[in-house]
Amino acid sequence: MCDNGIVLVHSSVTARCKLSPAGYERMFRIRRSLNRLYNDSLEERKRAYQERKQKLSFYDQCKVLTKLRQSNEHGLGSIAVGPARGMLKRLDQAFKSFFRRVKVGQKPGYPRFRALARCVTIDVTSIRPSVLRDCGTYYAIRIKGFPRIQCYPSQTLPDSRQLQSLRLTLRGRHWHASMVYQLEQAATEPATAATGIDVGVRKRMTLSNGKTYKPHKRNWKRMRKAQRAVARCQKRSQTRRKRVARLARYRRREFVSQRNALHRATTEIVRSYGLIAVERLKVVNLTRSAKGTEEAPGTNVNAKAGLNREILSQNWSLLFSQLEYKAEWAGREYVEVDPKHTSQDCHRCGARNHPKRSETYRCAACGLTMDRDQNAAINILAAGVLAAGASTWAVTSCVAPEPYAGTSIRKFGI
Ligand SMILES: [Zn+2]
Repeated sequence: MCDNGIVLVHSSVTARCKLSPAGYERMFRIRRSLNRLYNDSLEERKRAYQERKQKLSFYDQCKVLTKLRQSNEHGLGSIAVGPARGMLKRLDQAFKSFFRRVKVGQKPGYPRFRALARCVTIDVTSIRPSVLRDCGTYYAIRIKGFPRIQCYPSQTLPDSRQLQSLRLTLRGRHWHASMVYQLEQAATEPATAATGIDVGVRKRMTLSNGKTYKPHKRNWKRMRKAQRAVARCQKRSQTRRKRVARLARYRRREFVSQRNALHRATTEIVRSYGLIAVERLKVVNLTRSAKGTEEAPGTNVNAKAGLNREILSQNWSLLFSQLEYKAEWAGREYVEVDPKHTSQDCHRCGARNHPKRSETYRCAACGLTMDRDQNAAINILAAGVLAAGASTWAVTSCVAPEPYAGTSIRKFGI
């Protein structure tokens, strides 16, 4: 963050693109040659290691690319170098992730050769401001060797000198462009209030002051209908392809509307609170199947499967990542606390109860009766304030939720 009240933020814009029929054809050929480059480079890395025990780096492969471009291999010489380098970067990233996972003792799969159908993203590296030009009703994307691409964003784009990266993605039949800008923004007003957030399935979020956010309601019925329609089709038929595309469209629509709702909620939270405490949840562990083994079959398998589906549909990881980066931009404190017992302990007296499935939390020791999720959110807030350290957030400065003023802050589980 800069001192003069200006912060640098990354802002991304995605927009639908339009091309001429010949343009689509040209993009298909570009995609094919870039995919070949990817597969050939993967082969090269593999062989260099097997035959000469040599580890090729991104830069080694860029040198090879220069030669390929000189001899116009796969038509790479006729398109700009940026997209080709972007492909090599992608391969490099695949190898890096592979070795990183090997190092920590996981069992990752070795980077695979890619079918053309899976090659849908073109990263344009080393971009110049001239790549994007304002043409009044649309923006023109101009890359050497590429067809004319008209881009229709829903907002006026910032100055293209601030453009950091450009990515073209083929979604179904359409190309989309996503641009990342580095912008200067006025720093967010400082906030002194703190909040704890409890995430759930019936309510997406409950804040420690009792404010709730509605969960994302998926249109399961429509989705299932579309899935069954796909299942009924003959493999490789034209109808199947159309129905798969329809299902993908529904999925995409659902995701976008959910992501937008999350953006609205997280921006609001980050604007109003200086300290944001959340649970450190491991979604993978939470959504483990209840099936068990053949010898020891689990119980309530269907119910757990349903719950897992609901949990996964809430996209908590996206929620937490949005909160985290927005908190960083705004200079807010973001704390993850251990979720252990947060929904069982009474925030007022500290007694441990077992609320079971009831929405209401009742404390057997002190008689507290309140919303279960809010009780958990207050516990998370208390743990968050402690974790953030008294120097930044003195325990007394923690604003107790309105109707429950006088909340004592206890230490637990961190
Ligand atoms: Zn109590």
